[in-house]
Amino acid sequence: MHFKYVVVGAGLAGLTFAERIANELDERVLVIERRGHIGGNVYDSYNDAGILIHNYGPHIFHTNDREVYQYLSRFTRWNDFWHRVLTYVDGNLVPMPISVETINKLYNLNLSCFEVEQFLEKRAVDIKEIKTSKDVALSKVGQDIYEKIFENYTKKQWGVDPAQLDTSVISRIPVRLNRDTRYFSDKYQGMPSRGYTGMCENMAASKNIKILLNTDYREVMKDISYDKLIYTGAPDEFYGYKYGRLAYRSINFMFETHDMEEYQEAPVVNYPNDYDFTRITEFKKLTGQKHGKTTICKEFPCDEGEPYYPFPTGEHKAQFALYKKDMEKEPNIIFIGRLAQYRYYNMDGVVRAALDAFADMCK
Ligand code: FAD
Ligand code: UDP
Repeated sequence: MHFKYVVVGAGLAGLTFAERIANELDERVLVIERRGHIGGNVYDSYNDAGILIHNYGPHIFHTNDREVYQYLSRFTRWNDFWHRVLTYVDGNLVPMPISVETINKLYNLNLSCFEVEQFLEKRAVDIKEIKTSKDVALSKVGQDIYEKIFENYTKKQWGVDPAQLDTSVISRIPVRLNRDTRYFSDKYQGMPSRGYTGMCENMAASKNIKILLNTDYREVMKDISYDKLIYTGAPDEFYGYKYGRLAYRSINFMFETHDMEEYQEAPVVNYPNDYDFTRITEFKKLTGQKHGKTTICKEFPCDEGEPYYPFPTGEHKAQFALYKKDMEKEPNIIFIGRLAQYRYYNMDGVVRAALDAFADMCK
């Protein structure tokens, strides 16, 4: 069977591409998805208790990219939501990312914004060349806060010392010299009002889009020909692991439903130094759902399992570069998304990359 366009993966990258092909080009497109649902890692669903959960961990949409926000707003309305995170340190819950409130609570002080700037300047380590995530943290907040907040969380999350990770990981977390305790400061933030799955269903609503669920593309590709393949899976798998397996970090999500209205003070609480899990999410606090019970999720990072996070070390990037060379030699295949590009993308970054790649394809 011949399709002009075939998309592998029904996550945000694949669906953005399929939507553009179907609605902008008015062409038919086949989407092949290994899982039993669309949405990839942003998939959400109601559990047995009737609570809306994010099946692959907490997802909060935030972006400064107006075009991406406008694009997704065609498929969903947004509930106002400003994400907040608390971190459990020395028996106290302090706001993350580090702000004036965090420093005052951590050290039982009452400093002004200006005084916190001086406080951090005194502690910051002078590092000539910032090469790793450890350097990033030490150069901004110094040894004590690094140990309290970053070191052990990062070891749990990635299974290696922050000195082995490139700067991109801890650079995701700003240090604020003001009293803004929101987790993200982006211009556009929100939760899709009917959930991410509802948004994805609207993206895939065109009659031009045919979706094959529960199907690994390798099972069917011998029966399908295409003009263009858009591949959003892992590149090592695509090339039969010829340069070895790329490392991805995985997570074991443990869900618990409690017979109480509220479990914790914030939507997410991080545990850098206690327990084997990194954080607890309480979904009702993300979605705004009202319910007599509440569902939480504990995240236990691990090596084996679904590939969630590309591993940002020099060694793994060099291995990916070998695959990338082969990928660049494929005129009829577009590799896009968090897995395929081996990039620690947020949702908005994935949609931006897919929109740009679609525009390139149409040139
Ligand atoms: P995916 O969602 O991984 O989709 C790829 C799809 O391809 C999958 O459905 C997979 O089953 C399918 N596939 C792979 N191989 C094959 C094959 N051989 N055959 C058929 N199908 C295949 N981003 C934010 O902006 N905010 C957040 O708060 C946030 N929180 C996150 C929390 C966690 C725990 C994780 C893991 C990610 C988070 N992200 C967040 C990132 C976000 O999930 C990703 O940026 C986005 O979902 C990636 O979309 P994608 O389409 O590239 O990949
Ligand atoms: N991080 C940390 N302590 C925290 C929160 C984050 O050390 O309390 C570090 C950790 O290395 C983590 C990275 O910052 O992997 C990025 O955090 P983010 O919340 O963006 O992680 P994600 O939501 O992508 O898992």
